[in-house]
Amino acid sequence: MCDVSYSQDISAKTGLVALLGHPVSHSRSPQIQNAAFRERGLDLVYLAFDVLPDGLEAALRGLEAVGFRGANVTVPHKEAVLPFLDEVAPLVATVGAVNTLVYRDGTLRGHNTDVEGFLQALETGWRRPDEGDTCLVLGAGGAGRAVVAGLLAAGAGRVLLYNRTARRAEDLCSASVDWGEGGCETVAAAELSEALRQAKLVVNATSIGLKDGVKSYPLCADELTEEHVVMDLVYGSEPTPLLQEARKRGAITIDGREMLVRQAALAFELWTGISAPVEVMRRWMRA
Ligand code: NAP
Repeated sequence: MCDVSYSQDISAKTGLVALLGHPVSHSRSPQIQNAAFRERGLDLVYLAFDVLPDGLEAALRGLEAVGFRGANVTVPHKEAVLPFLDEVAPLVATVGAVNTLVYRDGTLRGHNTDVEGFLQALETGWRRPDEGDTCLVLGAGGAGRAVVAGLLAAGAGRVLLYNRTARRAEDLCSASVDWGEGGCETVAAAELSEALRQAKLVVNATSIGLKDGVKSYPLCADELTEEHVVMDLVYGSEPTPLLQEARKRGAITIDGREMLVRQAALAFELWTGISAPVEVMRRWMRA
């Protein structure tokens, strides 16, 4: 259980970190990050700001002007923020999106902690992929791009990519030629059964399975076996229908909440320079 009756002394010296998104009211990042700051005894506060697309530049300049240490950026600003940055970390150019900002010495630097967060989450249930692994990825949106980048950078031998809009999958595979030794190939809906037979790892990076959203997956979940490792980036308080089916069939399953915690922990470390209290952050995400 979390101790929810805490107090925090805010003074004129308290440092500030922001979340910029639209909407943000559903986000658990303030609870997770503030719990982590308290756990490490840091005089920092994390606040969420609902920023419309045409207010992004003003918000970024405002954070800088009043001395914020950093920020997370979420939908719809992850790509829109790029033109306002002074520097980007290497993976940002690959993924084309930013989720963490650091203000330091008058410079605004963009990072993407989703890729490493995805790989760390994978390791909690399985391991990083290697050249012997075929991985089936569903989805070629922002999350799919981070997953394909992570798998190829980690050394996966082969990535099979399905997307409802085939053109998006083709574009992502074309963009990924320099991301690792392994290759990325698109698969059509009719080829998914065969792709599933060949794959060890299956990752859902579509938004299918969200609470109250579409629940029907393009692949037949009853073709999953105990040989598979299944990770779903979609998260909620319950395991998604895909993870429930995968569990029933004896597959290893990894919940999207673990990636959420890992990318948050990596952002914490960028702002503070100290190791994140991952277990505390995990507890507050589930609270
Ligand atoms: P996005 O850029 O909007 O992409 C959405 C993806 O889902 C696209 O590939 C889209 O296909 C596909 N899709 C949506 N509805 C579909 C349907 N009815 N049938 C088939 N495909 C459908 O979103 P995103 O940023 O990639 O995020 C995708 C999901 O990952 C979200 O649920 C998000 O919350 C989750 N996520 C989780 C984490 C985490 O830390 N766990 C991190 C990032 C994202 P089309 O191209 O055909 O539209």
